[in-house]
Amino acid sequence: RIVYVNGAYLPEEEATVSVFDRGFLMADGVYEVTSVLGGKLVDFDGHAARLARSLAELDMVQPISHEALLAAHRELVARNGIEEGLVYLQITRGNPGDRDFAFPDPETTTGTVVMFTQNKPGLADSPAAKVGMKVISIPDLRWRRRDIKTVQLLYPSMGKMAAKAEGADDAWFVEDGKVTEGTSNNAYIVKNGRIITRELSQDILHGITRAAVLRFAAEAQMEVEERSFTIDEAKEADEAFVTSATAFVMPVVEIDGAKIGAGTPGRVAARLREIYLEESLKAAI
Ligand code: PLP
Repeated sequence: RIVYVNGAYLPEEEATVSVFDRGFLMADGVYEVTSVLGGKLVDFDGHAARLARSLAELDMVQPISHEALLAAHRELVARNGIEEGLVYLQITRGNPGDRDFAFPDPETTTGTVVMFTQNKPGLADSPAAKVGMKVISIPDLRWRRRDIKTVQLLYPSMGKMAAKAEGADDAWFVEDGKVTEGTSNNAYIVKNGRIITRELSQDILHGITRAAVLRFAAEAQMEVEERSFTIDEAKEADEAFVTSATAFVMPVVEIDGAKIGAGTPGRVAARLREIYLEESLKAAI
């Protein structure tokens, strides 16, 4: 596989980053994941805009232009022959000197930019989407700036492991009795045809897929309510699902062992997945 490091395209075995890089030492960095369908990038502009916002919130300088970022994404997709899969992009604060809690001088520091692809044939025609996912609920112990897409992913990883240990697929985080989001996705329920998902704030990541799905739902005359909901409300819902760049729209059929609706993927989730895939493929660049 060919990967990108600071402007160079290299075989993955030859790509290196400094041991002093703050991404490695302090999780001082941000990332984006853009899906690839039909060899093209889905919602690249949305991901690039969120990247710029994440960097700005952390006082990081964007070391690569929008155009160069797009060109590199396309180059990697082409070089690695990706038809369906993803491009991972990470920008860390780098570090020219010793380990220090204070940020290095932005005048003399350039961040580290890394990109790589993951080939995922069958991403769109996913068997998991036909069966649906089981989730467990766990306390949300992450920091309070979840709107910034940082590489601090240890707690979400632990959540995923806790889910696996219980024979489930993923975890939903709960804070003050309300669901915030999934380990790596936004969470939704459907009740009486109404789609309910938590409102945007610093409590959750502002999903690029979420924005697109809510737009498509509105265009299809579906009712959408942006508000938080409890796990108990979710268990009583007719349907549940999650959205993310690589899961698209993924039905949830069980929460903490309780079946949602009939315990099979719901019609609203299935319809949204269909619309999302169709529209995304059309708009991919
Ligand atoms: N919430 C969290 C915590 C995530 O990590 C992700 C994606 O990785 C999402 C939501 C979904 O965001 P997007 O639709 O932009 O992939």
